[in-house]
Amino acid sequence: MISHDQMTALRDGAAEWGITLSEAQLDAFSIYSTLLEDQNRVMNLTRIPLAEIVPLHFLDSLSILSIVPLERGARILDLGSGAGFPGIPLAIARPDLNITLLDATNKKVIFLQTVVEKLALPNCRAVHGRAEEMADRKGQYACVTARAVASMDKLAGWMLPFVKKGGVAVAMKSSQATAEIESARKVIQQQGAFIESVEQISIPGTDITRLLAVLRKR
Ligand code: SAH
Repeated sequence: MISHDQMTALRDGAAEWGITLSEAQLDAFSIYSTLLEDQNRVMNLTRIPLAEIVPLHFLDSLSILSIVPLERGARILDLGSGAGFPGIPLAIARPDLNITLLDATNKKVIFLQTVVEKLALPNCRAVHGRAEEMADRKGQYACVTARAVASMDKLAGWMLPFVKKGGVAVAMKSSQATAEIESARKVIQQQGAFIESVEQISIPGTDITRLLAVLRKR
């Protein structure tokens, strides 16, 4: 569970980005925090303590919505979703989106399936597989997200094949990743895409910034 103050920080932080979270959506985030906390005792899901879950996991995940406009019903793939970031927060905040969480570790996928069920997120499903081996899903997604999965050059090769023409891949990178993003320019071009922008985002209520690399498929 997250405290009343954490709920307020989540609601206000999201509101700074124009995202309105209802009481039911805030409750879903709280239930998610409990599921994470419980399962984290059984397996290594996150090193972030519960006290920091709102800024470092929830708001961080929602930051994508502040920079990429996603149409109603858009298909999203969260590659290497792990414990569900950014995919689960996106699914809670935007029930109109159609979200697939992909992870190569089956234990994590089983956890994600439990989360989807317990939070009653009909717009979301978790799939077990490796990005390199999912050719049947190529070109199907308006947006592919990834946080803390791989270096930018590797990630570009994994993410971009899933993006449909005109869609985007959004890689969530640390504030120090400028050179890493730049060094992937060639791979990005080979995938028929370009670096549309590298957005510096501040997480509300913290002094933390991160970079979101937005890659657009031609
Ligand atoms: N995105 C989450 C998890 C990061 S850990 C977060 O930010 O908290 C990286 C995750 O990517 C792990 O769960 C790992 O199983 C998954 N992963 C690594 N390589 C992958 C691949 N090639 N295809 C699918 N998932 C992969």
